[in-house]
Amino acid sequence: MDRARIAVFDTTLRDGEQSPGCSMNMREKMRIARQLDRLGVDVIEAGFPIASDGDFEAVQAIAAAVRRPVIAALARCCTPDIERAWEALKGAARPRIHTFLATSDIHLKHKLKITREQCIEQAASAVRLAKSLCPDVQFSPEDATRTDRDFLIEVLNAVVAAGATTLNIPDTVGYTLPDEFRELITMIRQRVRGIENVTIAAHCHNDLGLAVANTLAALHAGARQVECTINGIGERAGNASLEEIVMAMRVRADRCPFDTGIVSEQLYPASQLLSDITKVSVQPNKAITGRNAFAHEAGIHQDGMLKNPLTYEIMTPQSVGVPDSRLVLGKHSGRHALAIRCAQLGYEFERRELDEVYRRFVVVADRIKTVQDSDLLGLIRELREHAARNASSEAIPSTIAAAPSGAMRPFPMPLHPAQEAGLGLSSVHEHHGEQEDYLWGV
Ligand code: MN
Repeated sequence: MDRARIAVFDTTLRDGEQSPGCSMNMREKMRIARQLDRLGVDVIEAGFPIASDGDFEAVQAIAAAVRRPVIAALARCCTPDIERAWEALKGAARPRIHTFLATSDIHLKHKLKITREQCIEQAASAVRLAKSLCPDVQFSPEDATRTDRDFLIEVLNAVVAAGATTLNIPDTVGYTLPDEFRELITMIRQRVRGIENVTIAAHCHNDLGLAVANTLAALHAGARQVECTINGIGERAGNASLEEIVMAMRVRADRCPFDTGIVSEQLYPASQLLSDITKVSVQPNKAITGRNAFAHEAGIHQDGMLKNPLTYEIMTPQSVGVPDSRLVLGKHSGRHALAIRCAQLGYEFERRELDEVYRRFVVVADRIKTVQDSDLLGLIRELREHAARNASSEAIPSTIAAAPSGAMRPFPMPLHPAQEAGLGLSSVHEHHGEQEDYLWGV
C-alpha cells in the first residue's frame, strides 16, 4: 500500500498559547520549540508577531535557533500584520507566512463588517503581499466549516491564483462532523483550480470532542497537513491533539495509509514538558499522555497484562515515551499483580505469605482508592512486626523474607495513609471474604 507522507503542523505556541492559563514567556517557548524539533514536527507555528512584542521576539528567537522545521508566523490579512510577521521570520531557515481571513457570512457581517467581494479582494491582496516576501504562504479561511460552499471555493480560487501554497481549512468553532468535513475537503479538491500544486491542511477544534476524528476524516479525503497541539491545548475546548492523531495513524496503520516524521517516543516527554511549563495538568484519562492511559487496575486486566501485554494494550507505553505501564493497585487487583509489585519493591513471598499480605492489602484497598507503594511498604512492615511479636506462638513466623538482594531495604517511613485515616489494620481479621483474583475483572 502506498503511504502518504503527512506534514505535522504544530500550533502549541500559537493557538495553544491562546488557551486560558497557557501563556508562556520567551524562554519557555524556546524550550517547547526545541522539544517540538526533537519530536519531529514539520512545521512550528511560533506565534502571532503583531500581537505583542513578546510574541514577535519569541518568533524571531525560535526562527534563529530551530533550523530543521518550517517556522510559521500568523498574520491577519492586512499589511502591518504581514510585514511584522515577515520581520520576525526572515532569519528562519524555512519561513512560512500564515495569513487568515474569516469567510463565513456571520463573521463577515458581524465581526469584519465587510462584503463577500471585499473579503475576496482582501484575502487575495494579502496573499500577494506575503508571496512577494516569502515563497511559502499559507492561507486559512477562518470559520470555513460554516462558510457558504460556493463562496468558499471563490475565495480559495483567488488565493491560489495569488500564490498560496497551503490551504488550511479550519473548523474554527469545532462545529463539523467527520463525514461532513470529509465531503468538504473532497469538494475543495474537486473544485479549486490549481489544487494539485497546493497542500490542503485540516485545523480542527474540539468543542464537540471530534477534533481528532475530523482531522483523520480530512486525511482520508486528501488533506496532507494536520494542525494540532501537544495535549490538545487551544482555544476553548482545544485543538486536535497531536499525540492522538499520530498514534491513531500508527496503531491503525492498516486503515490509515499515512506516515509522519514524528518520533513517537518523544510524545510523553513533550506532554510532560508542556504541562510542567504551563502548570496546566493533563486530565488523568487523556488518551496517550494521561497518567492513567496505560494503567490497569481490574484483576483480570492485570493478570492478562502480566501474561502478555497485547491482551489489553494496543500500543506499548514505551512507544510513546511513557517509562512503564503502571499497574494500579486497588481493591480490584489480584494476587498476581500484588506479588509483582512487592517484588519490584524488593519483597518476594511464598504463596501462604502472599495470601496474608493480600488479605491485609484488600482491607486497606477497600478504604483507600489506590494503594501506593508507601502504603504497601507500611503494610509489609506491620506484618513483619506482627510476625516477629508472635514468632514463638504463631504459625506464620519469619516467613516474610527480603528479596534476594539480601538485607531489608530501609523503608521510607511516612505515616501510613491507612493509619492517618485511623483505619489501622486491627480489622484485618474481620475481612473474611475470599477474594478471587478475577472477581471484578469482567
Ligand atoms: Mn484555531
